[in-house]
Amino acid sequence: MVRYNEIREGEVAVTPPPATDAGLVFIGRIHTPWGDRMLTPRQGRADGPVCRLEIFEPWVAALRGLDQYAHVEVIYWLHQSRRDLVLQRPASDASLRGTFSLRSPVRPNPLGTSIARLVGIENQFVLVRGLDCIDGTPLVDLKPDRCDFTPIAPPQQGDFETDA
Ligand code: SAM
Repeated sequence: MVRYNEIREGEVAVTPPPATDAGLVFIGRIHTPWGDRMLTPRQGRADGPVCRLEIFEPWVAALRGLDQYAHVEVIYWLHQSRRDLVLQRPASDASLRGTFSLRSPVRPNPLGTSIARLVGIENQFVLVRGLDCIDGTPLVDLKPDRCDFTPIAPPQQGDFETDA
């Protein structure tokens, strides 16, 4: 089961610094069929329902060219999440895990990302399949899926060096 804001046995919450969401500009709002976190899939599916990304002005012009990609990376703000857990007990796995080892919505900056299948663009709406957020979730950014990209610059010396 997903959760609202309850703590599970062994989980550890901390007192985080005050949130400063004002540093972000929400570029739109996501319309999905799910009105409740409990009913939302844990990860999106390519055959999931079509969801509509409503882009606010003045950002609609920034959609130009997006239609040439099959997939789009959707970055959103999981605004109903608590943000103070450092140790969590995932519903699917009783072990106690560090927040940064999980894709849980509960994190200090509740960003969610999904690689969604681009279905179409209709004026200020981008239609996609593959989301897992509730209706009304704020949209932070859109990027063409990086797998669709071929690097423009030829490889440079040092590009593939590791620290090992
Ligand atoms: N795909 C994203 C990721 O991996 O970064 C998010 C994964 S997270 C496990 C998805 C879950 O977040 C949903 O099943 C739901 O329980 C919860 N959720 C969805 N929308 C939310 C919102 N606006 N605020 C808080 N939690 C939300």
